[in-house]
Amino acid sequence: MTEHLSTVAGVAVDTRHWIGGERVASAETFTDVSPIDGSTLAEIARGTAMDAAAAVAAAKAAFPGWAATPRAERARLLHAIADGVEKRLEDLAIVETHDNGALLRSHRRGVMPRAAHNFRFFADWLLKLDHEDFDTRGHTNTVSWDPAGPCVLITPWNAPLMLATWKVAPALAAGNTVILKPAEWTPLTASLLADIAAEAGLPAGVLNVVQGYGSEIGDVLTSHPDIRRISFTGSVPTAKRISASAAANLTPLSLELGGKSPLLVFADTDLDLAVDLAVEQYDNAGQVCLAATRVLVEEPLVDEFTRRFVAKAAELRQGDPREATTDIGPNIHPRQLEKIDGFVQRAIAAGARAVIGGHRGAGQHYAPTLLTDVAQDSEIVQEEVFGPVLTLQTFTTEDEAVRLANDTRFGLAATVATGDHERAERVTAQLVAGTVWANCFFVRDLRAPFGGSRHSGVGREGGTWSFDFYCDVKNTVSAPKGWRG
Ligand code: NAD
Repeated sequence: MTEHLSTVAGVAVDTRHWIGGERVASAETFTDVSPIDGSTLAEIARGTAMDAAAAVAAAKAAFPGWAATPRAERARLLHAIADGVEKRLEDLAIVETHDNGALLRSHRRGVMPRAAHNFRFFADWLLKLDHEDFDTRGHTNTVSWDPAGPCVLITPWNAPLMLATWKVAPALAAGNTVILKPAEWTPLTASLLADIAAEAGLPAGVLNVVQGYGSEIGDVLTSHPDIRRISFTGSVPTAKRISASAAANLTPLSLELGGKSPLLVFADTDLDLAVDLAVEQYDNAGQVCLAATRVLVEEPLVDEFTRRFVAKAAELRQGDPREATTDIGPNIHPRQLEKIDGFVQRAIAAGARAVIGGHRGAGQHYAPTLLTDVAQDSEIVQEEVFGPVLTLQTFTTEDEAVRLANDTRFGLAATVATGDHERAERVTAQLVAGTVWANCFFVRDLRAPFGGSRHSGVGREGGTWSFDFYCDVKNTVSAPKGWRG
């Protein structure tokens, strides 16, 4: 063990950056703490402007070689990374759980397999991407998908590796090189990913990982003239800062931001399904961008819905995310807990009633909360809480339901629960959101576009949309043989 290795739940994690195929330390470190028990997990390299610039230089130097690497070889290496993720799935799952407090069983069964799948999916898609030809008066227009250059990928803490791989995989598949900047609250699995990529044989400098505070190194990365794409997942205020910084070089951005998504429950719904959909919104302690945190219920159903919801929510077990019996783990950080409680207490002071919860739980938990008697224009209805806090409102007509649902500056997702197929079609067509679910939640094909409208984001990723973003799409027009004009 060297001083740069920390052991987290028995797994050795390098605490340094990964730049140009080498581990690089910084003079200073920051402390990574577990939300499970507040214990120190590691002292992580605190990136400086010089580290960030070095990572960009490494990505720039590696770009021509990687861009020229045949697609089949790029795809092979991405599959090798997926193999590595699968081989180290247990390590990744346990480390991520210690780092962000999300359920170990979810990491094992869903999140880490999906991280591996992200690499396989984009490797396979790359091989299907073909140039397109159009003929104009004998002139051939050939549309090709060219690598764009070094990309900065900035990710949040709520699903660290899954969201990182959702960006890293298509960026690499497209032939770009990458600087990944994970969230400072969850730096660990990004470091393991660097190990896995190196073991898979990814050439030096193709993937770089810089650790540290966004407020200290973010600007250096996002305003850098050598960066060709920035993909960011995180909050709206940070997205605005990044947009301003990227504007200096007109660097194209993909922004995956927050939400305040509605769940519309019509009186004709299968009530068990509707209640399950609502209770599911407490998953990951409510730290899910897509979470339908505004529950809108048709008036005649509200009493029965609330009774069943309260009974079902009472079955949720808060506790240690490593235990198989736990349904809800801790929230990420004491600061986040304070933020959540601030929203709830201000709402209660403004007249809201907590049907359940409304207070902190043990340790770093927040009690699953349902607030009613909330005004449409109130902070609790309009702002993203990012904790296990739902609001309950009623409506009497379909038009009112749609109006309330769309009355938000966000537009990430929306869910409709109804037993009437025609109503489902009518209502989903009117909802303003990147993803709309009818009688289901969270399922999504990676070939479909993902992203948000309004303040929930700019652009779409997934399938072709990812390659649209990460590639320079070029049209080459060739004259027919012997053409003289
Ligand atoms: P955040 O905006 O605070 O931080 C996200 C990342 O940005 C971190 O890596 C942080 O270090 C970095 N950062 C901070 N300041 C920066 C700067 N000036 N320049 C560059 N980078 C900077 O967000 P968070 O609290 O980590 O994440 C929660 C938010 O993410 C919520 O709003 C949630 O809805 C959103 N989210 C969205 C999606 C989606 O796909 N739409 C998915 C998950 C989370």
